[in-house]
Formats: sequence, structure tokens, C-alpha cells
Amino acid sequence: MARRRIIAGNWKMNKTPSEAIALCAELEDLVKNDNVDVVYCVPAIDIVPVAEAVKGTNVKVGAENFYIEDKGAYTGEISAPMLKDAGVEFVIIGHSERREYFKEDDAFLNKKVLKAIEAGITPILCCCESLEQREMNVTMDWIRLQIKSDLAGVSADQVKTMVIAYEPIWAIGTGKTATSDQAEEVCKGIRELIAEMYDQATADAVRIQYGGSMNASNAAELLSKPNIDGGLIGGASLKADFGQIVNA
Ligand code: PEP
Repeated sequence: MARRRIIAGNWKMNKTPSEAIALCAELEDLVKNDNVDVVYCVPAIDIVPVAEAVKGTNVKVGAENFYIEDKGAYTGEISAPMLKDAGVEFVIIGHSERREYFKEDDAFLNKKVLKAIEAGITPILCCCESLEQREMNVTMDWIRLQIKSDLAGVSADQVKTMVIAYEPIWAIGTGKTATSDQAEEVCKGIRELIAEMYDQATADAVRIQYGGSMNASNAAELLSKPNIDGGLIGGASLKADFGQIVNA
């Protein structure tokens, strides 16, 4: 079954609103490709200007975070309905930086997944392992635990529309990419888990990305693997290289 490719940039805490508008203009022609979903996941303050800047192009807007309540006394937070109203179609959930620095655990991430879906936003659910866990040979156990917990109460039809990103922590921002075989092994394991938890049709529909130092020179090799349907890109999403990844 053919799954539509999805290349998403994770801008992290980079780009002021005016820099964000300039980056959208710089990338506009480079990321044109009707066969791929192209998504910019941007800082909250950039969502409105980026949504305006990409209007009429093939680029979709994503967010990097939100809080699990719809509204109320949560000073400093942004809700999923607010994101939706601003034009957000995708949201990153469970990135290792949020798990580590902001102590987001799987019970909380499960609430985020359910809330994003309720608001009509597609989760890009990240799962990851540390170098220590890889060396201890528990990568797949750890990944399975995260996904099982994060998807509690999510239906097969909902999972079919989701994106899952495998992002080994040791490969994020380090320049150290997982080999295409290592990345494929885990992405295949994730698809097998979805088949176990739901059914084969759901496993065949869910899109699975690899993320971790993906760049213009290694993207084609990683994306040639049967279970890797796209990439979640940090550093390289902030420059012209992102266009080369989209077209890889
Ligand atoms: C990320 O943080 O989602 C990521 C993949 O970063 P990088 O591409 O910089 O490794």
C-alpha cells in the first residue's frame, strides 16, 4: 500500500517572526513537490506569520507544543483549539527534548495525543531511545513501551491518520545518523507493533518517519527503506538543504 511521504521540519527554538517569514520565502521554490507532504513545525510565536507566509503554497503548518486543556487559568500555555484556529494541521508530541527538559511522561503524552486528535490536529508522535539503551539492547522494548502508553485509548481509525517519528536521542543534533538499516529495523518494529495492537490495515496506513541528523546527503538512502515514509528534520530544516531532503 502506497503511503504518502511526509517531510517535516522541527524549527525548535529558532527564528523570530521576521526571520521565519524570510525563511519561508527562501524555501518556497525549493520545497515545491506535489507528491510529498511538507510541514514546518514552528515556535508558537511564528505560527500566525508562517501560516500567512505559506498561504497558497504546498507547505502545511505544524506546532511544536501545546497544553492539554482547551482553555482556562494556565498562564503561558497555548491550547490545541487555539493552534487549530491559527491554521495548524500537525503537532509534534513526545519529542525527546520535551521528555527530558520538560519532564513530559507517557501518561501526559497520551493526553496530548488524544487532545490533538480531538482538536482535529494530526499528531507527529515521537519515540526514542538513548545510546545507553541501544548499547544494552533494549531499544525495541523501550520504543514499544512508549508507543503502547502514548496510544492508549486511540482508535485504529485515528492511528491510521497519525505520524510516528522514530528519533534516536544519540542521533539528534549530533551529526551522528542512524544507519539506514538501524533506522529501518526500528521503523519496521514500530509498524509490527501497530499491527499487533490494532490490525494490518492500520499498520499499513500509519506513516513512520525517521529523525536524527537527516540531511541532504543521507536522506535519499534513509528514505529508500520500505518502512521509512518520511523524515522529521531539525538542523537541516533551517536551510536550503531542506529542499533537497523534500526532493530526495
Ligand atoms: C529533531 O530534533 O527532531 C531532529 C531530528 O534534529 P536534527 O535533525 O538536528 O538531528
